Amino acid sequence: MPTNGERSRHDCPDCGRPMYWSEAAVRNRYPTEYAEAYRCTNGHTSQPCPLCGSNDTAAWADTEPGPLYHVICGQCGNDSVVNK
Ligand SMILES: [Zn+2]
Ligand SMILES: [Zn+2]
Repeated sequence: MPTNGERSRHDCPDCGRPMYWSEAAVRNRYPTEYAEAYRCTNGHTSQPCPLCGSNDTAAWADTEPGPLYHVICGQCGNDSVVNK
């Protein structure tokens, strides 16, 4: 798990800005609880891993036009392709 404020090795796939690990970045399945994730200065957050649910992921947009991200998970190492 990254430490608070740690910069992701990958920039935001949506706007190209750097992403930093932040506490309470995304809302998880419980309405009053928030999960840690990478977040850029425009408020985009990292994608959850489809396999283990971790937000410790690096994502980038497919170079071909299409609604897909590649997501590499820092927890389980799974390499996934997910919809934007
Ligand atoms: Zn962004
Ligand atoms: Zn995972």
